[in-house]
Amino acid sequence: MCFGFVSLFFAAFNILLNNFPLLGYLEIGLSLFCAYTFNRLNKHSLEVWQSIVMCLFVTFVIVLGNYLAKPLNGLYVWSFALPVLYYLLLGKRYGIILSALLFILQAAILLSKASQAPLTTLNFSLNLALTYISIWAISHVFEGSRALSSKRLKNLALLDPLTGAANRLSMNHYFEVELTDKSQLYLFLLDLDFFKRINDTYGHAVGDKVLIEVATLLRVVLAKGYVFRVGGEEFALFHSFSAQNEAIAMAETIREKLNNSAIEVNGLKINVTASIGVVKYQPGDSLEKCVKKADKQLYKAKEYGRNKVYFQLSERINKKPHMA
Ligand code: GH3
Ligand code: MG
Ligand code: MG
Repeated sequence: MCFGFVSLFFAAFNILLNNFPLLGYLEIGLSLFCAYTFNRLNKHSLEVWQSIVMCLFVTFVIVLGNYLAKPLNGLYVWSFALPVLYYLLLGKRYGIILSALLFILQAAILLSKASQAPLTTLNFSLNLALTYISIWAISHVFEGSRALSSKRLKNLALLDPLTGAANRLSMNHYFEVELTDKSQLYLFLLDLDFFKRINDTYGHAVGDKVLIEVATLLRVVLAKGYVFRVGGEEFALFHSFSAQNEAIAMAETIREKLNNSAIEVNGLKINVTASIGVVKYQPGDSLEKCVKKADKQLYKAKEYGRNKVYFQLSERINKKPHMA
């Protein structure tokens, strides 16, 4: 919005007083784009194309202004604001490329006018170049540390610190925002059987390591799906399948893999089994409803002996009774 107002002010100045109508009309275009972006931000998040258009538009206006105007007008000083804008809107990678390109372009234009005041002294040109490079370097370092701390905060908020799996908050975000096509989505709710016994027998620290291994195994077996740790020894798994049988087969594979492979922790071989409730997403269902339905199936799998997979219509998939 700030750029929009500044641009509008310069548009009026360039059209009415300065006799630079081309630049003025471009600046009106830029103000309109700023107003449009500002207005859209009320309802939508900023999209990459908007940031790119904004950066290129502002750059074009400033470079053109510098090219057309006499150096004495000092239009090139607006270049100092651009590295900040690039890094703020597009991050470090594009920030460095665009800042370097702008530096080369503006330097070439100013060099072609080197005989005009105030560019005739070496001191002036050096000060200009070094100020630009300083602002560029500060923007670069600042954006680097901002991006890093933002990533750390995001990880703290969205990942479970023990297993590294995504947490319940991530699951909500994944379901509500990221997952646009839910037509073939299945949810598995998996709970380890008699996990308390593992803690009681081997200690809590070993129990923790078993949870880490289980989370890794789930991620590997599910491959393209998503694994969330939603409780102490409870995981929610999301995956799309083209047919119901495929979903059930995958849940069975997970159950079998856990059942057949002992988990090695500190030289101990620990057997864990899991009960799994499976549901297919029904259009209109909220995440809460999906989880509730899956929980119902999970409860049945526990009730009827554990180490089993139950599907939403109460079909018992694993018919072999298994004592954990
Ligand atoms: P069930 O088959 O009915 O699920 O039996 P269970 O023992 O797995 O279930 P219950 O809910 O009675 O106990 C879950 C246990 O999981 C209790 C708690 O000690 C353990 N647990 C929960 N979170 C963690 C954790 O982060 N680390 C460890 N080591 N244990 C945990
Ligand atoms: Mg359990
Ligand atoms: Mg549990």
